[in-house]
Amino acid sequence: MQIYSAPIRDMQFVLYELHDATGLTALDSFCEVSRDLVDPVLAAAAQFSTQVLLPLNLSGDQQGCNFTTSGVNTAEGFKQAYQQFCEGGWTAFCCDPQYGGMGMPKSIHSMVEEMLCSANLSFGMYPGLSLGAYHALHCFASQQIKDKYLAKLVDGSFCGTMCLTEPQCGTDLGLCRTLAVHCDDGSYQITGNKIFISAGDHDLSENIIHLVLARTPDAVAGIKGISLFVVPKLLDDEHGETCIANNVVCTSIEHKMGIKASATCSMSFGQSKGWLVGELHKGMQGMFSMMNRARLAVGMQGLGLSEAAYQAATAYAKERLQGRSLAGAKYPDQAADPIIVHPDVRRMLLTMRAYTQGCRAFGAWVSQEYDYSNHHPDQKRRQGADDFVQLSTPIVKSLFTDLGFESTNLGMQVLGGHGFIRESGLEQYVRDCRITQIYEGTNGIQALDLIGRKLPYKAGRYLRQFFHPLQEYIEANIKDPQQAEFIQPLAKAFSRLQRASAKIAQAGLSNPEQAAAVASEYLRLFGLVALAFMWCKMTQIALTKVDDDSSGFYAAKITTGRFYMQKILPQSSALFASIMAGGEVLMALDEEQF
Ligand SMILES: Cc1cc2nc3c(=O)[nH]c(=O)nc-3n(C[C@H](O)[C@H](O)[C@H](O)COP(=O)(O)OP(=O)(O)OC[C@H]3O[C@@H](n4cnc5c(N)ncnc54)[C@H](O)[C@@H]3O)c2cc1C
Repeated sequence: MQIYSAPIRDMQFVLYELHDATGLTALDSFCEVSRDLVDPVLAAAAQFSTQVLLPLNLSGDQQGCNFTTSGVNTAEGFKQAYQQFCEGGWTAFCCDPQYGGMGMPKSIHSMVEEMLCSANLSFGMYPGLSLGAYHALHCFASQQIKDKYLAKLVDGSFCGTMCLTEPQCGTDLGLCRTLAVHCDDGSYQITGNKIFISAGDHDLSENIIHLVLARTPDAVAGIKGISLFVVPKLLDDEHGETCIANNVVCTSIEHKMGIKASATCSMSFGQSKGWLVGELHKGMQGMFSMMNRARLAVGMQGLGLSEAAYQAATAYAKERLQGRSLAGAKYPDQAADPIIVHPDVRRMLLTMRAYTQGCRAFGAWVSQEYDYSNHHPDQKRRQGADDFVQLSTPIVKSLFTDLGFESTNLGMQVLGGHGFIRESGLEQYVRDCRITQIYEGTNGIQALDLIGRKLPYKAGRYLRQFFHPLQEYIEANIKDPQQAEFIQPLAKAFSRLQRASAKIAQAGLSNPEQAAAVASEYLRLFGLVALAFMWCKMTQIALTKVDDDSSGFYAAKITTGRFYMQKILPQSSALFASIMAGGEVLMALDEEQF
């Protein structure tokens, strides 16, 4: 059985004590988003996630989706849950009020996303993809297209997809072959095959709006010849009724390791009618805007599963009786002590806890800056916030999903053999989490994005948005004796990160292959420092409040922060050594020697 209770107290701590979410109310767009509004919203999301979505998680995994010649049927209960989701206004949550949206901040929406993913990642995929399509159309489509589709995506009656991948075209989108031929009426005929399309077909919505990468016959080869098109599954008839098939066909669905209730579809477009989104041959611009947002959302998937696994493992560790505490029996009246008394079990639980709460804190910072980057009246502040989000996006995507996978795996270990058995529900988290490291650009590609695009951008402009506040924080607090056990390890790890950054920047200029060879280690080092920064700030707040708190919340924060500094952050030393050793050895074997 799966259990989950939304970590509202920790979310509130992160929003109001760590990051001052109330500051957003100073922005015109969010002047009404006070705590009085946000707290009930979080409570409602928690209720929907635990009462509607969680009960469908295990059954959805067991049933999967059903492919028929007339389309894909989702698992039992998904359709009703989706209806409730739309009626509750969740599809409209962070969308533009001009199209019926509620205009809520991304920083609050990220918390809602986390809850959905903890409760039922497969379900969360459907509205998640729709939101990506909404976002691309909102940013790049003509007014006519916006008027036609946005309100329907916002009220949930239409869903959306992202159609990039083809059999020969995965990471390298320049290999896309889907063809777009211009028609006299201004539309395009789209022909080609896409694979692995999440939510490509299903029975949840009236229509599905596909955002498709394709190339026109005259386009140059490679990425510069790619354009973005909107291709609906159904077109309108002469009465405006959405009922004419557009020859967009799901030809099969994948049988896969996890997220089984999310339909992963092979799609065939046969001279299907589509319309250009954005400029011709500039499709990657729209796609990247959609992907960047989606990458932050995938980070939340890793975080959500990490939280769910942590809760399940903790509950189990308190109940399962095996062995005796090495410090002497804790429960002598019972046949054995609960396994939570054992140091190794605590190591696993604390690792999961430190990852999860650290990622939540960093993710909330990034989301809040995302809000400022879009809504702050001051252009300079907007730019700075956007720079920070650009830098952080590959870190959130990659770090949160890598740690999410480690965390779900540790959760399974805490349950022992029972964790490996289906009914426990834990092994589903491990399987579901695995894909998050792969899609939306593999984590290896995120690391290349970090060192290749983000690090060198305008002589380190993005980098400064993280390095400067961190440097200022260290300088302001390094002499505080109460903080010493937290800030000193942070300062050391930051120094390693600075030296590693300089080494990579130098290598990147002279030998990009050398820089690429240590990119994944660099991203992990960066992520560990980012979480250490968050843990320092969190423990600093907790230290001021712990004496007046009888709940144990702040005391547990301090101990978890201490664990992070003593047991996790030292990994930065090994990563640093490996980065400084360079990557020559990786290229030393001839291909035949493998
Ligand atoms: C369940 C599921 C859902 C998906 N949903 C969608 C969707 O909705 N829409 C969509 O368009 N796609 C979707 N995908 C596709 C997914 O985004 C791709 O699988 C992913 O981007 C990787 O592409 P690939 O599988 O072709 O791997 P490849 O590109 O063949 O990569 C294989 C390996 O080589 C590495 N590699 C490749 N190129 C480089 C390089 N230049 N440098 C270093 N390493 C490299 C990769 O990191 C990877 O480890 C989905 C896939 C799955 C399995």
